[in-house]
Amino acid sequence: MTGQKTPVKEIQAREIQAREIQVRNPRTGLRDYQFTATGKTGIQQACQQLRTAQKNWLACGLDKRISILLAFGEAIKDDRKELIEALVTDTGRQGLSIMEVDIIAPGIDRWVRIAKEARAPAQGRSTALPFITYSIEKRPYALVGVISPWNFPLTLSLIDAIPALIAGAAVIIKPSEITPRFAVPLRKIIATVPELRSVLTVVDGDGKTGQAIVDQVDAICFTGSVPTGRMVGEQAAHNFSVAFLELGGKDPAIVLENADVERAVTAILRGSIVNSGQACQSIERIYVARPIYDKFVEKLIAKAKKIRLNTPHIHSGHLGPIIFEKQANIIAEQIKDARDKGATIHTGGQIENHGGLWCAPTVITGLTGDMLIMSEETFGPLLPVIAFDHVDEAVTMANDSKFGLSASIFAATAQEAIEVGCRIEAGAISINDAALTSLMYEAEKNSFKLSGLGASRMGPSGYLRFFRKQSFMTNEAEVFTIDQFDETHSTP
Ligand code: NAD
Repeated sequence: MTGQKTPVKEIQAREIQAREIQVRNPRTGLRDYQFTATGKTGIQQACQQLRTAQKNWLACGLDKRISILLAFGEAIKDDRKELIEALVTDTGRQGLSIMEVDIIAPGIDRWVRIAKEARAPAQGRSTALPFITYSIEKRPYALVGVISPWNFPLTLSLIDAIPALIAGAAVIIKPSEITPRFAVPLRKIIATVPELRSVLTVVDGDGKTGQAIVDQVDAICFTGSVPTGRMVGEQAAHNFSVAFLELGGKDPAIVLENADVERAVTAILRGSIVNSGQACQSIERIYVARPIYDKFVEKLIAKAKKIRLNTPHIHSGHLGPIIFEKQANIIAEQIKDARDKGATIHTGGQIENHGGLWCAPTVITGLTGDMLIMSEETFGPLLPVIAFDHVDEAVTMANDSKFGLSASIFAATAQEAIEVGCRIEAGAISINDAALTSLMYEAEKNSFKLSGLGASRMGPSGYLRFFRKQSFMTNEAEVFTIDQFDETHSTP
């Protein structure tokens, strides 16, 4: 009806309902995909349905839930092609997309083992009052929300969802609006597992959708940046719901004088640039003992120069595009800032525009503490290398950060590296290797400082954190009477 204005109330209602979002393709730079972000009402409805379905999910018992999750793992294996294709389009890289899909089924097996081991309720007897016994049952949160980032879209959507489901919770997942395409085949796979589809919902959306989810769930698993994590944590605290926050990092590597230089260079290069540095546990600061500094830098430059970008063809090299264009701006700004303040750029050093945006490994020396690259998260393949004279100095520089996610230490022996690692304010320390948290999920860890909050998502705690504990206490003797608390009998 031309000429007629849409009533304000209708516009507001629509905004609450849903929003159209254009999505950029990281390889071409074109906005070639569009989706509708779920509005507040949509989230409320989805969460209500999940809460209803969760009751049967919990009642069906651990063994049944395990069998359904194992069936989900098989369904992912059967339909992996479409999921991989969508992830490749979302991220512009293939090998890591295949890996993201193929680690899901073994990941389910790991959580199943952990859940079976944690099955028995704890029980005991009071030491002070031995006639009182207790048993402790685990009561899962009914509804868990998962909000994930764009760097490993599938892995970081399912890493918390799977243990929460096994625990007996229903789960709502909201992937990043930067990489939303994979949600379509993921939903199709979930739909093939009838018992799962009523308790696992993947919604499309942006930050506002995420906010709406935080208000509906009993526990929120958030992976993303510190500023957003702070908002999510504050909102959850307001609701007295639980927030598990997995946030950014500025991981240091320390290479002692007696370390195997060749090994350290190989591991640090990989740990710094895999996925084009778009990983929370990327090595972003490299501290090297002065006697081996020149040799280290020379080898690092030589190896960095051999790294190829996967453009023009996806099969043509090691590194995919910078997925999020705003991240490319941050990387460019840090390079410019370092250059302007006198640093030396040995390799790479620029964002390359091939439709999408790429960045070659960038080895930088001549750094000073006032450079952005030394304090702010980069999330790109930049390798700043700094010499140190004494291990105490290396430890001080490594700890001089608002982040405390993980770190790597290289020394002649593991024991020596662990001794240095004990002095580092970070939750996961890789010994004589780099960024091992990306490869193994068994070891529990907690973030330090602004890198996160809450129980470990790795190891048994990654499952147990989805339960409240409920204790049952039984007095096998006579009950106490109020007369036993009569003040007239109380003498010091
Ligand atoms: P981001 O904080 O911008 O967004 C993460 C998610 O939060 C997205 O799904 C987004 O839609 C949603 N969101 C935005 N505003 C919200 C709000 N107010 N309430 C609820 N949800 C909201 O982060 P990003 O750019 O997608 O991811 C990169 C960051 O993630 C980096 O800092 C990286 O270090 C971090 N990260 C951490 C880990 C880890 O395990 N510690 C792993 C991967 C990435």
